[in-house]
Amino acid sequence: MKKRVLCVEDEADIRQMIRFSLEREGYEVIEAGDAGQARTATAERLPDLMLVDWMLPGQSGAELIRRLRADELTRGIPIIMLTARSEEDDMIVGLESGADDYLVKPVSLKTLHARIRALLRRSDGHDVNRVLTFGLLALDLDAHRLRISGQPVHLGITEYRLLEFFLKHTGRVYSRAQLLDFIWGQNTYIEERTVDVHILRLRKSLKPHQADHYIQTVRGAGYRFSEETALGL
Ligand code: CA
Repeated sequence: MKKRVLCVEDEADIRQMIRFSLEREGYEVIEAGDAGQARTATAERLPDLMLVDWMLPGQSGAELIRRLRADELTRGIPIIMLTARSEEDDMIVGLESGADDYLVKPVSLKTLHARIRALLRRSDGHDVNRVLTFGLLALDLDAHRLRISGQPVHLGITEYRLLEFFLKHTGRVYSRAQLLDFIWGQNTYIEERTVDVHILRLRKSLKPHQADHYIQTVRGAGYRFSEETALGL
């Protein structure tokens, strides 16, 4: 099946040049002129890879990438950011916002093809969202394996499921009863303090890697998984 590339670029001539060149290489190319059109296109069907121009009218390319990375469905799409030479400093911001790679315009089509092939090879064989990442954590849903800074970390099955749930729902507070429902199922009758036991175990596994602070106890409410400090709650 043809790989689908979504090209987000407001300059129609550049977009078309990229389109023709990629189509010749056997890709299916979808065009978007701004962030809004890009989101509509990803909602219709997920692309295998995206090219995102830094300077877009309205929402910037970096902001678009940040939003794609925040969404569970689109966070795994490989993204190459395109930037003008004068904006090369901005590529740092772009990479921080979650782009996998960047190219300086005018883009060499040969280089573009090579980078696209490299990124697609990396993501091939995986669904776009089969690895959940957060900070230094990477949870591989196929291998059922957690890595922190590349180091494998052993988790019990319940701790694994807790972490998977947290990584899919970062930043929100969940009560013990909600966590019981989500992780153990609604028809099981388990004491709420069971949740505390497994949270404790999960924290213990994360602690040697300085990642236990992500699991925050919110007094009187429950737990949340977040990078922000729990101060003031
Ligand atoms: Ca532009």
